[in-house]
Amino acid sequence: MRRTAAVWAGKATGALSRLSGRGGGTTLPGDVARAIDPTVLRKLTGDLTEGSIVITGTNGKTTTARLLTSIFEGMGKRVVSNRAGANLIFGATAAALRSAGPDGRLRADWGVFEIDEASLPRAVEEIQPRIAIVLNLFRDQLDRYGELEKIAKTIEAALESIPEGAQAVLNADDPRVGEIGLALARTPLWFGIEDPEVAMRKLPHAADARTCPKCGASLRFSAVYLGHEGVYECPNGDFARPAPGVAATHIVLDGFDSVAMNIGETRLELPVGGLYNAYNALAAFAAGMVLGVDGQYMAERMHGFKAAFGRQEKMDFRGRHLVLVLSKNPAGFNETLRTAVDMAGATHFILGLNDRKADGTDVSWIWDVDFEQLAGKAEVVVPAGTRAHDLAVRLKYAGVEARPPQTEPGRALDDLISVTPEGATAHT
Ligand SMILES: [Zn+2]
Repeated sequence: MRRTAAVWAGKATGALSRLSGRGGGTTLPGDVARAIDPTVLRKLTGDLTEGSIVITGTNGKTTTARLLTSIFEGMGKRVVSNRAGANLIFGATAAALRSAGPDGRLRADWGVFEIDEASLPRAVEEIQPRIAIVLNLFRDQLDRYGELEKIAKTIEAALESIPEGAQAVLNADDPRVGEIGLALARTPLWFGIEDPEVAMRKLPHAADARTCPKCGASLRFSAVYLGHEGVYECPNGDFARPAPGVAATHIVLDGFDSVAMNIGETRLELPVGGLYNAYNALAAFAAGMVLGVDGQYMAERMHGFKAAFGRQEKMDFRGRHLVLVLSKNPAGFNETLRTAVDMAGATHFILGLNDRKADGTDVSWIWDVDFEQLAGKAEVVVPAGTRAHDLAVRLKYAGVEARPPQTEPGRALDDLISVTPEGATAHT
Protein backbone atom coordinates (compact mmCIF):
# COMPACT_ATOMS: atom_id res chain seq x y z
CA MET A 1 0.00 0.00 0.00
CA ARG A 2 2.61 2.42 1.19
CA ARG A 3 4.96 1.39 -1.56
CA THR A 4 2.32 2.02 -4.22
CA ALA A 5 1.68 5.48 -2.76
CA ALA A 6 5.41 6.18 -2.76
CA VAL A 7 5.77 5.08 -6.39
CA TRP A 8 2.77 7.19 -7.45
CA ALA A 9 3.97 10.28 -5.60
CA GLY A 10 7.48 9.89 -6.97
CA LYS A 11 6.27 9.46 -10.53
CA ALA A 12 3.95 12.46 -10.19
CA THR A 13 6.83 14.58 -8.90
CA GLY A 14 8.94 13.56 -11.86
CA ALA A 15 6.18 14.45 -14.31
CA LEU A 16 5.54 17.79 -12.58
CA SER A 17 9.15 18.88 -12.51
CA ARG A 18 9.51 17.98 -16.18
CA LEU A 19 6.37 19.99 -17.02
CA SER A 20 7.53 23.00 -15.03
CA GLY A 21 10.80 22.87 -16.96
CA ARG A 22 12.96 22.21 -13.93
CA GLY A 23 15.27 19.86 -15.75
CA GLY A 24 14.60 16.16 -15.99
CA GLY A 25 13.67 15.86 -12.32
CA THR A 26 16.51 13.39 -11.88
CA THR A 27 16.51 12.88 -8.12
CA LEU A 28 13.51 14.81 -6.74
CA PRO A 29 11.05 11.92 -7.39
CA GLY A 30 13.40 9.77 -5.32
CA ASP A 31 13.24 12.25 -2.43
CA VAL A 32 9.45 12.32 -2.47
CA ALA A 33 8.98 8.57 -2.73
CA ARG A 34 11.47 7.90 0.06
CA ALA A 35 9.72 10.39 2.31
CA ILE A 36 6.52 8.35 1.96
CA ASP A 37 8.16 4.93 2.11
CA PRO A 38 11.82 4.88 3.20
CA THR A 39 12.10 1.23 2.10
CA VAL A 40 10.80 1.85 -1.42
CA LEU A 41 14.16 1.21 -3.14
CA ARG A 42 14.66 -2.06 -1.26
CA LYS A 43 11.18 -3.18 -2.28
CA LEU A 44 11.53 -2.15 -5.91
CA THR A 45 14.96 -3.73 -6.44
CA GLY A 46 13.59 -6.84 -4.74
CA ASP A 47 11.33 -7.22 -7.80
CA LEU A 48 14.28 -7.52 -10.22
CA THR A 49 14.26 -11.02 -11.70
CA GLU A 50 18.07 -11.25 -11.96
CA GLY A 51 19.40 -8.80 -9.37
CA SER A 52 21.61 -5.74 -9.23
CA ILE A 53 25.14 -4.55 -9.80
CA VAL A 54 26.50 -1.47 -8.02
CA ILE A 55 29.51 0.38 -9.39
CA THR A 56 31.58 2.89 -7.45
CA GLY A 57 34.87 4.73 -7.88
CA THR A 58 36.04 8.20 -8.82
CA ASN A 59 36.24 7.76 -12.59
CA GLY A 60 34.51 5.51 -15.11
CA LYS A 61 31.25 4.66 -13.34
CA THR A 62 29.01 5.83 -16.17
CA THR A 63 30.95 4.09 -18.93
CA THR A 64 31.17 0.82 -16.98
CA ALA A 65 27.45 0.97 -16.17
CA ARG A 66 26.63 1.54 -19.84
CA LEU A 67 28.85 -1.32 -20.96
CA LEU A 68 27.08 -3.70 -18.58
CA THR A 69 23.67 -2.35 -19.56
CA SER A 70 24.52 -2.94 -23.21
CA ILE A 71 25.65 -6.51 -22.44
CA PHE A 72 22.39 -7.30 -20.61
CA GLU A 73 20.15 -5.59 -23.16
CA GLY A 74 21.80 -7.58 -25.92
CA MET A 75 20.64 -10.69 -24.05
CA GLY A 76 17.06 -9.41 -24.17
CA LYS A 77 17.04 -8.32 -20.52
CA ARG A 78 15.24 -5.24 -19.24
CA VAL A 79 17.70 -3.03 -17.36
CA VAL A 80 17.09 -0.26 -14.83
CA SER A 81 19.97 2.18 -14.42
CA ASN A 82 20.39 5.62 -12.91
CA ARG A 83 21.35 8.56 -15.08
CA ALA A 84 24.83 10.02 -15.10
CA GLY A 85 25.26 12.42 -12.20
CA ALA A 86 22.40 10.89 -10.16
CA ASN A 87 24.77 8.75 -8.11
CA LEU A 88 23.21 9.21 -4.70
CA ILE A 89 20.62 6.92 -3.20
CA PHE A 90 17.91 9.34 -4.37
CA GLY A 91 19.08 9.00 -7.97
CA ALA A 92 18.97 5.21 -7.76
CA THR A 93 15.50 5.43 -6.24
CA ALA A 94 14.33 7.77 -8.99
CA ALA A 95 15.63 5.33 -11.62
CA ALA A 96 13.73 2.44 -10.06
CA LEU A 97 10.59 4.59 -9.88
CA ARG A 98 10.71 5.38 -13.59
CA SER A 99 10.56 1.69 -14.43
CA ALA A 100 7.87 0.84 -11.87
CA GLY A 101 4.31 0.19 -13.02
CA PRO A 102 1.15 1.78 -11.62
CA ASP A 103 0.81 -1.18 -9.24
CA GLY A 104 4.11 -0.13 -7.66
CA ARG A 105 5.97 -3.17 -9.04
CA LEU A 106 9.28 -2.96 -10.86
CA ARG A 107 9.19 -4.95 -14.06
CA ALA A 108 12.81 -5.39 -15.01
CA ASP A 109 15.53 -8.02 -14.89
CA TRP A 110 18.70 -6.18 -13.95
CA GLY A 111 19.54 -3.09 -11.95
CA VAL A 112 22.84 -1.45 -12.89
CA PHE A 113 23.51 1.41 -10.50
CA GLU A 114 26.44 3.82 -10.39
CA ILE A 115 26.85 4.91 -6.81
CA ASP A 116 28.82 7.68 -5.20
CA GLU A 117 31.51 6.29 -2.84
CA ALA A 118 29.94 7.84 0.25
CA SER A 119 26.50 6.40 -0.60
CA LEU A 120 27.77 2.84 -1.09
CA PRO A 121 26.93 1.46 2.38
CA ARG A 122 23.33 2.58 2.07
CA ALA A 123 23.08 1.39 -1.53
CA VAL A 124 24.42 -2.05 -0.60
CA GLU A 125 22.00 -2.31 2.30
CA GLU A 126 18.97 -1.34 0.25
CA ILE A 127 19.82 -2.78 -3.17
CA GLN A 128 21.44 -6.05 -1.95
CA PRO A 129 23.62 -6.31 -5.07
CA ARG A 130 24.94 -9.54 -6.57
CA ILE A 131 28.10 -7.75 -7.67
CA ALA A 132 29.85 -4.65 -6.31
CA ILE A 133 32.51 -3.09 -8.54
CA VAL A 134 35.15 -0.65 -7.26
CA LEU A 135 36.95 1.02 -10.17
CA ASN A 136 39.47 3.38 -8.57
CA LEU A 137 39.91 5.99 -5.87
CA PHE A 138 41.40 9.24 -7.05
CA ARG A 139 41.49 12.52 -5.25
CA ASP A 140 38.43 14.24 -6.67
CA GLN A 141 37.42 17.85 -6.45
CA LEU A 142 38.37 18.75 -2.94
CA ASP A 143 35.04 20.28 -1.98
CA ARG A 144 33.03 17.24 -2.95
CA TYR A 145 34.81 14.48 -1.10
CA GLY A 146 36.60 14.07 2.16
CA GLU A 147 39.90 12.37 2.61
CA LEU A 148 40.56 9.27 0.56
CA GLU A 149 41.31 7.35 3.73
CA LYS A 150 37.82 7.97 5.10
CA ILE A 151 36.24 7.03 1.77
CA ALA A 152 38.30 3.82 1.70
CA LYS A 153 36.98 2.83 5.13
CA THR A 154 33.41 3.56 4.02
CA ILE A 155 33.79 1.36 0.94
CA GLU A 156 35.41 -1.41 2.96
CA ALA A 157 32.47 -1.46 5.39
CA ALA A 158 30.01 -1.54 2.50
CA LEU A 159 31.81 -4.44 0.78
CA GLU A 160 31.87 -6.43 4.03
CA SER A 161 28.09 -6.21 4.08
CA ILE A 162 27.27 -7.39 0.54
CA PRO A 163 24.91 -10.40 0.62
CA GLU A 164 26.17 -13.92 0.97
CA GLY A 165 27.11 -15.28 -2.45
CA ALA A 166 27.65 -11.77 -3.81
CA GLN A 167 30.99 -10.91 -5.38
CA ALA A 168 33.20 -7.85 -5.00
CA VAL A 169 35.02 -7.03 -8.26
CA LEU A 170 37.98 -4.77 -7.54
CA ASN A 171 40.77 -2.99 -9.38
CA ALA A 172 44.03 -4.59 -8.23
CA ASP A 173 46.11 -1.80 -9.81
CA ASP A 174 44.83 0.91 -7.47
CA PRO A 175 46.68 0.76 -4.12
CA ARG A 176 43.70 2.17 -2.21
CA VAL A 177 41.36 -0.37 -3.72
CA GLY A 178 43.98 -3.04 -3.05
CA GLU A 179 44.08 -2.01 0.59
CA ILE A 180 40.27 -2.26 0.82
CA GLY A 181 40.06 -5.65 -0.88
CA LEU A 182 42.92 -7.27 1.04
CA ALA A 183 41.14 -6.40 4.29
CA LEU A 184 37.89 -8.14 3.27
CA ALA A 185 36.86 -11.43 4.84
CA ARG A 186 35.73 -12.81 1.46
CA THR A 187 38.18 -12.89 -1.45
CA PRO A 188 37.34 -10.39 -4.17
CA LEU A 189 37.79 -10.95 -7.89
CA TRP A 190 40.71 -8.71 -8.88
CA PHE A 191 41.09 -7.16 -12.29
CA GLY A 192 44.15 -5.35 -13.62
CA ILE A 193 46.36 -4.52 -16.56
CA GLU A 194 49.37 -6.74 -17.31
CA ASP A 195 51.16 -4.96 -20.12
CA PRO A 196 54.48 -3.17 -19.55
CA GLU A 197 54.24 -1.74 -23.10
CA VAL A 198 51.59 0.79 -22.08
CA ALA A 199 53.17 1.72 -18.74
CA MET A 200 54.63 5.11 -17.92
CA ARG A 201 58.02 5.44 -16.32
CA LYS A 202 57.05 7.55 -13.32
CA LEU A 203 54.08 8.62 -11.23
CA PRO A 204 52.43 11.85 -12.39
CA HIS A 205 51.89 14.76 -9.98
CA ALA A 206 48.31 13.78 -9.31
CA ALA A 207 49.22 10.35 -7.97
CA ASP A 208 47.83 10.43 -4.47
CA ALA A 209 47.99 6.94 -3.03
CA ARG A 210 51.70 6.46 -2.97
CA THR A 211 52.28 5.22 0.55
CA CYS A 212 51.97 1.77 2.09
CA PRO A 213 48.82 1.49 4.23
CA LYS A 214 50.67 -0.82 6.64
CA CYS A 215 53.92 1.02 7.36
CA GLY A 216 53.70 4.35 5.54
CA ALA A 217 56.72 3.75 3.31
CA SER A 218 56.62 5.01 -0.27
CA LEU A 219 55.30 2.31 -2.57
CA ARG A 220 57.60 1.06 -5.30
CA PHE A 221 56.00 0.93 -8.75
CA SER A 222 57.39 -1.37 -11.42
CA ALA A 223 54.71 -0.08 -13.83
CA VAL A 224 52.39 2.93 -13.78
CA TYR A 225 49.36 2.74 -16.05
CA LEU A 226 47.19 5.68 -15.09
CA GLY A 227 47.39 8.13 -12.19
CA HIS A 228 48.51 5.97 -9.27
CA GLU A 229 47.27 2.74 -10.87
CA GLY A 230 49.95 0.22 -11.67
CA VAL A 231 52.03 -2.62 -10.28
CA TYR A 232 53.13 -1.63 -6.80
CA GLU A 233 54.75 -3.09 -3.71
CA CYS A 234 55.98 -1.86 -0.36
CA PRO A 235 59.80 -2.03 -0.07
CA ASN A 236 59.28 -3.49 3.44
CA GLY A 237 57.33 -6.41 2.01
CA ASP A 238 54.08 -5.94 3.97
CA PHE A 239 51.82 -4.81 1.11
CA ALA A 240 51.72 -5.50 -2.63
CA ARG A 241 49.35 -5.44 -5.57
CA PRO A 242 47.18 -8.58 -5.56
CA ALA A 243 47.54 -10.78 -8.63
CA PRO A 244 44.60 -10.06 -10.95
CA GLY A 245 42.29 -12.97 -11.74
CA VAL A 246 41.08 -11.11 -14.83
CA ALA A 247 43.84 -9.29 -16.70
CA ALA A 248 44.12 -7.21 -19.84
CA THR A 249 47.19 -7.95 -21.96
CA HIS A 250 48.43 -7.00 -25.46
CA ILE A 251 46.85 -3.56 -25.27
CA VAL A 252 46.77 -1.44 -28.41
CA LEU A 253 45.84 2.23 -27.95
CA ASP A 254 44.79 4.34 -30.90
CA GLY A 255 44.37 7.85 -29.50
CA PHE A 256 40.74 8.61 -28.78
CA ASP A 257 39.55 6.22 -31.48
CA SER A 258 39.89 2.82 -29.89
CA VAL A 259 41.56 0.58 -27.38
CA ALA A 260 42.02 -3.14 -27.93
CA MET A 261 43.14 -5.80 -25.48
CA ASN A 262 43.21 -9.51 -24.74
CA ILE A 263 41.30 -10.74 -21.73
CA GLY A 264 42.16 -14.40 -21.42
CA GLU A 265 41.29 -15.97 -24.77
CA THR A 266 39.10 -13.08 -25.87
CA ARG A 267 40.27 -10.22 -28.08
CA LEU A 268 38.22 -7.15 -27.30
CA GLU A 269 38.18 -3.83 -29.13
CA LEU A 270 36.36 -0.83 -27.72
CA PRO A 271 35.51 1.99 -30.16
CA VAL A 272 36.52 4.64 -27.61
CA GLY A 273 40.15 5.29 -26.73
CA GLY A 274 42.23 5.88 -23.61
CA LEU A 275 43.63 3.52 -21.05
CA TYR A 276 40.86 4.54 -18.63
CA ASN A 277 38.40 2.90 -20.97
CA ALA A 278 40.52 -0.27 -20.96
CA TYR A 279 39.91 -0.36 -17.19
CA ASN A 280 36.17 0.24 -17.64
CA ALA A 281 35.91 -2.57 -20.18
CA LEU A 282 37.95 -4.86 -17.95
CA ALA A 283 35.67 -4.17 -14.97
CA ALA A 284 32.51 -4.83 -17.00
CA PHE A 285 34.04 -7.97 -18.50
CA ALA A 286 35.04 -9.28 -15.06
CA ALA A 287 31.51 -8.74 -13.76
CA GLY A 288 30.11 -10.56 -16.79
CA MET A 289 32.48 -13.46 -16.13
CA VAL A 290 31.21 -13.73 -12.55
CA LEU A 291 27.71 -14.12 -14.01
CA GLY A 292 28.86 -16.68 -16.57
CA VAL A 293 28.30 -14.45 -19.62
CA ASP A 294 30.18 -15.65 -22.70
CA GLY A 295 33.40 -13.69 -23.29
CA GLN A 296 33.11 -13.61 -27.08
CA TYR A 297 29.56 -12.29 -26.80
CA MET A 298 30.70 -9.52 -24.42
CA ALA A 299 33.49 -8.55 -26.83
CA GLU A 300 30.97 -8.23 -29.66
CA ARG A 301 28.64 -6.03 -27.60
CA MET A 302 31.48 -3.81 -26.46
CA HIS A 303 32.73 -3.44 -30.01
CA GLY A 304 29.47 -1.67 -30.89
CA PHE A 305 29.58 0.57 -27.84
CA LYS A 306 29.06 4.35 -28.03
CA ALA A 307 30.74 6.62 -25.47
CA ALA A 308 28.58 8.15 -22.78
CA PHE A 309 27.37 11.53 -23.93
CA GLY A 310 29.72 14.41 -23.20
CA ARG A 311 32.55 12.24 -21.98
CA GLN A 312 34.08 11.70 -25.33
CA GLU A 313 32.64 12.90 -28.57
CA LYS A 314 33.84 13.62 -32.07
CA MET A 315 32.34 16.14 -34.47
CA ASP A 316 33.12 18.22 -37.52
CA PHE A 317 32.79 21.96 -37.19
CA ARG A 318 33.51 24.47 -39.97
CA GLY A 319 35.85 22.07 -41.71
CA ARG A 320 37.79 21.15 -38.56
CA HIS A 321 37.57 17.90 -36.63
CA LEU A 322 36.79 18.44 -32.97
CA VAL A 323 37.27 15.93 -30.17
CA LEU A 324 35.42 16.74 -26.94
CA VAL A 325 36.51 15.09 -23.70
CA LEU A 326 35.21 15.68 -20.17
CA SER A 327 37.55 15.39 -17.16
CA LYS A 328 36.48 15.92 -13.58
CA ASN A 329 39.68 15.46 -11.62
CA PRO A 330 43.48 15.48 -11.99
CA ALA A 331 43.84 11.79 -12.79
CA GLY A 332 41.21 11.93 -15.53
CA PHE A 333 42.60 15.18 -16.90
CA ASN A 334 46.16 13.83 -17.01
CA GLU A 335 45.12 10.72 -18.86
CA THR A 336 43.13 12.80 -21.35
CA LEU A 337 46.10 15.08 -21.99
CA ARG A 338 48.44 12.13 -22.31
CA THR A 339 46.11 10.43 -24.79
CA ALA A 340 45.74 13.65 -26.77
CA VAL A 341 49.42 14.64 -26.87
CA ASP A 342 51.25 11.32 -26.99
CA MET A 343 48.81 9.08 -28.79
CA ALA A 344 46.61 11.29 -30.94
CA GLY A 345 49.39 13.82 -31.66
CA ALA A 346 47.07 16.71 -30.78
CA THR A 347 48.42 20.25 -31.11
CA HIS A 348 45.35 22.54 -30.90
CA PHE A 349 43.34 22.77 -27.67
CA ILE A 350 40.55 24.54 -25.89
CA LEU A 351 40.89 23.77 -22.20
CA GLY A 352 37.68 24.60 -20.34
CA LEU A 353 37.29 25.02 -16.59
CA ASN A 354 33.93 25.66 -14.96
CA ASP A 355 32.94 26.18 -11.36
CA ARG A 356 29.19 25.93 -11.62
CA LYS A 357 27.53 23.90 -8.89
CA ALA A 358 27.54 20.62 -10.85
CA ASP A 359 31.24 20.99 -11.63
CA GLY A 360 32.44 21.69 -8.09
CA THR A 361 33.23 25.22 -6.94
CA ASP A 362 36.81 24.61 -5.79
CA VAL A 363 39.14 24.61 -8.79
CA SER A 364 42.44 24.29 -6.91
CA TRP A 365 42.72 20.72 -8.21
CA ILE A 366 44.03 22.10 -11.52
CA TRP A 367 47.37 22.53 -9.73
CA ASP A 368 47.54 18.72 -9.59
CA VAL A 369 47.13 18.40 -13.35
CA ASP A 370 50.33 17.95 -15.35
CA PHE A 371 49.75 20.70 -17.91
CA GLU A 372 53.54 20.57 -18.30
CA GLN A 373 52.83 17.73 -20.77
CA LEU A 374 51.63 20.38 -23.22
CA ALA A 375 54.75 22.55 -23.06
CA GLY A 376 56.58 22.49 -26.36
CA LYS A 377 53.98 20.16 -27.91
CA ALA A 378 50.77 22.15 -28.08
CA GLU A 379 50.77 24.83 -30.75
CA VAL A 380 47.56 26.56 -29.72
CA VAL A 381 45.90 26.49 -26.29
CA VAL A 382 42.78 28.53 -25.55
CA PRO A 383 41.87 28.68 -21.83
CA ALA A 384 38.07 28.79 -21.55
CA GLY A 385 35.15 28.49 -19.16
CA THR A 386 33.93 30.49 -16.17
CA ARG A 387 37.36 30.03 -14.56
CA ALA A 388 39.42 30.56 -17.73
CA HIS A 389 41.61 33.09 -15.89
CA ASP A 390 42.62 30.57 -13.19
CA LEU A 391 43.49 28.13 -15.93
CA ALA A 392 45.58 30.74 -17.76
CA VAL A 393 47.65 31.28 -14.59
CA ARG A 394 48.13 27.53 -14.17
CA LEU A 395 49.25 27.19 -17.81
CA LYS A 396 51.72 30.03 -17.38
CA TYR A 397 53.34 28.21 -14.46
CA ALA A 398 53.45 25.03 -16.57
CA GLY A 399 55.41 26.88 -19.23
CA VAL A 400 52.60 26.56 -21.76
CA GLU A 401 52.07 29.50 -24.06
CA ALA A 402 48.34 30.18 -24.17
CA ARG A 403 46.01 32.55 -25.99
CA PRO A 404 43.92 35.07 -24.01
CA PRO A 405 41.36 33.44 -21.68
CA GLN A 406 37.76 33.23 -22.97
CA THR A 407 34.85 32.95 -20.57
CA GLU A 408 32.30 32.59 -23.39
CA PRO A 409 32.35 29.11 -24.99
CA GLY A 410 31.38 30.54 -28.40
CA ARG A 411 34.26 33.00 -28.38
CA ALA A 412 36.71 30.31 -27.29
CA LEU A 413 35.61 28.15 -30.21
CA ASP A 414 35.85 31.07 -32.66
CA ASP A 415 39.35 31.83 -31.43
CA LEU A 416 40.44 28.21 -31.81
CA ILE A 417 38.92 27.91 -35.29
CA SER A 418 40.64 31.11 -36.38
CA VAL A 419 44.05 29.57 -35.73
CA THR A 420 43.33 25.93 -36.61
CA PRO A 421 43.92 25.06 -40.27
CA GLU A 422 41.04 23.58 -42.19
CA GLY A 423 41.05 19.77 -42.04
CA ALA A 424 43.02 19.75 -38.79
CA THR A 425 41.90 18.20 -35.49
CA ALA A 426 41.39 20.20 -32.30
CA HIS A 427 40.81 18.89 -28.78
CA THR A 428 38.58 20.52 -26.21
ZN1 LIG B 1 54.80 -1.26 4.11
